[in-house]
Amino acid sequence: MLATAGVEKNAYDVALENFDLAANALDLEDSLRARIKYPERILSVNLPVRMDNGKVFRFEGYRVQHSTMRGPGKGGIRFHPNVTVDEVKALATWMTWKCAVVNIPYGGAKGGVTCNPKEMSLGELERLSRRYASSILPLIGPEKDIPAPDVYTTPQIMAWIMDTFSMNKGYPVMGVVTGKPICLGGSLGRNEATGRGVFYTVVSSCEHLHIPMKDARVVVQGFGNAGSIAAMLFHEAGAKVIAVSDTRGCIMNAKGLDIPAVIAFKERTGTVVGFPGAGNITPQELLAMECEILVPAALENAITHQNAHAVRARIIAEAANGPVTPEADRTLLEKGVFLIPDILCNAGGVTVSYFEWVQDENHLFWDENDVNLRLEKVMKKSFNDVLKIYLDRKVDMRLAANMLGVGRVADAARIRGLYP
Ligand code: NAD
Repeated sequence: MLATAGVEKNAYDVALENFDLAANALDLEDSLRARIKYPERILSVNLPVRMDNGKVFRFEGYRVQHSTMRGPGKGGIRFHPNVTVDEVKALATWMTWKCAVVNIPYGGAKGGVTCNPKEMSLGELERLSRRYASSILPLIGPEKDIPAPDVYTTPQIMAWIMDTFSMNKGYPVMGVVTGKPICLGGSLGRNEATGRGVFYTVVSSCEHLHIPMKDARVVVQGFGNAGSIAAMLFHEAGAKVIAVSDTRGCIMNAKGLDIPAVIAFKERTGTVVGFPGAGNITPQELLAMECEILVPAALENAITHQNAHAVRARIIAEAANGPVTPEADRTLLEKGVFLIPDILCNAGGVTVSYFEWVQDENHLFWDENDVNLRLEKVMKKSFNDVLKIYLDRKVDMRLAANMLGVGRVADAARIRGLYP
């Protein structure tokens, strides 16, 4: 069970429930469901790490490969105190459908270590990252499974993982991880890709719903990589970002926050709280603010049956993975909220990770404009593919996205043969 942004809910149960809904809508045969529903491999690792005080502390970590049906496993690594194997299984499952929705040739995987990076020194983090990389080494590689950053993991951590893997091979292997620093084979635009992808899917949604972006009110929960970049792009597009939050608290300004200044303030102080000229509100008030666009960009279970009724947004853009529970989905649907589901909304990150891997494997790098144009094309096409199912089949957007993702994986499984 997870203690995250809202009430506790097992994310893996949510992932299985959403799979079943899609499989039922697609009328998938049982033999196919058995092949594609569950993780292919689950590795649990024991990570003894020498801390700065000289004592050895034992961490636990995981790498889950949910599917390699359409290509190598792909998915981030999360360093967080609430990481559990079930959370990693859920996130790996979502990666499978996500890669299929944006039609990139990957399966789904995810990794996690139960730890609190905020309380660790850089040296402790490096030793933990290297130990974790060594422990999952048999599973990963450019043709097998390619990790990337997720919550509280950074390009620096990806560099340590790439280095540990390369030391073991005896030659540099750039394509083993994505989200690397640019000087080590990272892609221009990767750092911004998740937030940028969120922005593109919201632009498409606004077009569909005839909501002007100019002066649209935006609320962002979670001001990290995904949330802050999305907020910046909304700000640049003329929308008013009226509230943002992080683990320390929430700030608001009905006239719109100066997002570049909030980003600079957070870089300086470590939090958005205390930003000059902004008022403070509670996390509950933030999610209940009247707005056109609400972006949950923190963790799972932010919007549950307990607070969904209070939401007053026209669009919810799931920058985070699994921020809305199935019960909340039903309430939001009744309220007429247009949902951009996570496996579509935040797929910009994995899309540019794919571009990074392609560039690494080809030893040929693209300029940032090229990366962003390709990303925009993928996100808009994927949005339209999901919207078509939503309109043609008269299902909700989450089910439409899951039908697209699960359907593509099922097609691959069928053509590869069910019984190897
Ligand atoms: P991050 O570590 O950069 O930022 C997380 C942010 O959320 C931090 O600002 C933190 O303070 C805040 N936060 C955590 N708990 C909160 C709470 N209860 N209330 C308010 N704020 C809270 O992480 P990120 O990479 O931006 O990831 C955020 C979400 O986006 C996760 O669900 C992640 O899986 C998803 N995601 C990220 C990427 C990516 O490329 N970074 C890609 C796809 C999906």
